[in-house]
Amino acid sequence: MNVCKDIDCVKNFVKSQKQSLKTIGYVPTMGYLHEGHISLVRAAKSACDNVIVSIFVNPKQFGPKEDYSRYPRDLKRDLELLEKEKVDMVFTPDIETMYPKGFSTTINIGPLANVLEGAFRPGHFDGVCTVVTKLFNIVSPDKAFFGEKDYQQLKIVEKLVKDLNFDIEIIPIPTKREEDGLAMSSRNTYLNKEERKRAGTIYKFLLKAKEIFESGIKDSDKIIEQAKEVLDVDSIDYIKIVDKDTLEEKKVASKYDRILIAVKIGNTRLIDNIEI
Ligand code: AMP
Repeated sequence: MNVCKDIDCVKNFVKSQKQSLKTIGYVPTMGYLHEGHISLVRAAKSACDNVIVSIFVNPKQFGPKEDYSRYPRDLKRDLELLEKEKVDMVFTPDIETMYPKGFSTTINIGPLANVLEGAFRPGHFDGVCTVVTKLFNIVSPDKAFFGEKDYQQLKIVEKLVKDLNFDIEIIPIPTKREEDGLAMSSRNTYLNKEERKRAGTIYKFLLKAKEIFESGIKDSDKIIEQAKEVLDVDSIDYIKIVDKDTLEEKKVASKYDRILIAVKIGNTRLIDNIEI
């Protein structure tokens, strides 16, 4: 497994692979890998000749009061996990490599970035789109793999690729969950034992909402109000039923809509979603 800190190291590898007509699958991550990330890696392995994973905690997608400095990091363990998965290359750039002195470009994809997560984390998706654009230009993959866990991010990256004519296929991968249904996340490590237990009610809430919808209730407010009975969190940033593509809020829910939730338990902010 090659580990590259420099951009040219990645570009040279990609160039040589493309000359031999080999395809490149790409999995961008912020590290502290778990089974969710590994499911993306495995999907990439089975669909492409080569797999490149990047590990970069992108400062531009964290707000000033967010958890950038305490975001969990363990590069040694991550590299061991990726080696086991027979990943071909891991790109681990420094901040100065990605954002050298004088860097000033921002990618803003418009309204889709201002709702839901974007409304609570101003600038977050500009940071995501800026780093993803750079990473796509560095790696030039044929396919890139993104988790449905970050549903709005997935939709935004799909739009970015369409709007900017990237010749890259975006492959969505279903959310990997713990035994009690909690979506796997590097941030779950922030939870203490009692908080971790309550975090399991997020998925119970989503399943309850789906069950209520399937029982015949279509009014979104009613579905959410009734399902909230099973939710045990400290505060709710948003719960919304939205169109699966436009992310526009639906007052009346219909099949294939998506229910998205963001909550806080203690100091930890967690997000999740399912198809209703
Ligand atoms: P992150 O390291 O949090 O930036 O995530 C890197 C990629 O892994 C993103 O495409 C996420 O959506 C995806 N991901 C994170 N958690 C999960 C999960 N539990 N199941 C599937 N994919 C995930």
